[in-house]
Amino acid sequence: MPFPVHILNASSLPLAELESVAETIRQLLGLSVSVAQYRLELERAFDSSRVQYNSSVLIAHILSTITSSEKQKLITIVDVDLYIPVLTFVYGEAQLDGTAAVVSTHRLANEFYGVEENRSLLLERLTKELVHELGHTFGLFHCKQFECVMRASTYVEEIDLKKMTLCEECARRLFEKIHN
Ligand SMILES: [Zn+2]
Ligand SMILES: [Zn+2]
Repeated sequence: MPFPVHILNASSLPLAELESVAETIRQLLGLSVSVAQYRLELERAFDSSRVQYNSSVLIAHILSTITSSEKQKLITIVDVDLYIPVLTFVYGEAQLDGTAAVVSTHRLANEFYGVEENRSLLLERLTKELVHELGHTFGLFHCKQFECVMRASTYVEEIDLKKMTLCEECARRLFEKIHN
């Protein structure tokens, strides 16, 4: 199987729930997807003035701790609030056309917005963001198609509006990337 995807769980979500997320991603992308528990040293990415975690620092750290081949994708799930210096926050970050990505559940959870917890909605949003960041690791850019999972999302409502799937054009690009 080309490009196995490894989901590394550094969040408090139980592995059993992530297994079902992995199964969905397996079906969506046609890739082998594994899930494992992962201990990430979050402290090194903490910015005390922002009270947030620098996602680029985390990605560099993940790559330094795991021996991986170029043909693998490593996507780590955390539950802390992530940022990159030019943005207030990010749901996730990926190396464009690279190996590693990180996604946070922090702003995907209803509780963050003072709304009642909804576990299945959280997992749905998480799946979309995982597919989105994986798309970036396969070299996909943001897409203007309204329902495409590669559409950029600034608000959680925008994540809810898009689908888990890639539009035809993004799907074609991904297929080429995987099979060439
Ligand atoms: Zn993006
Ligand atoms: Zn698209």
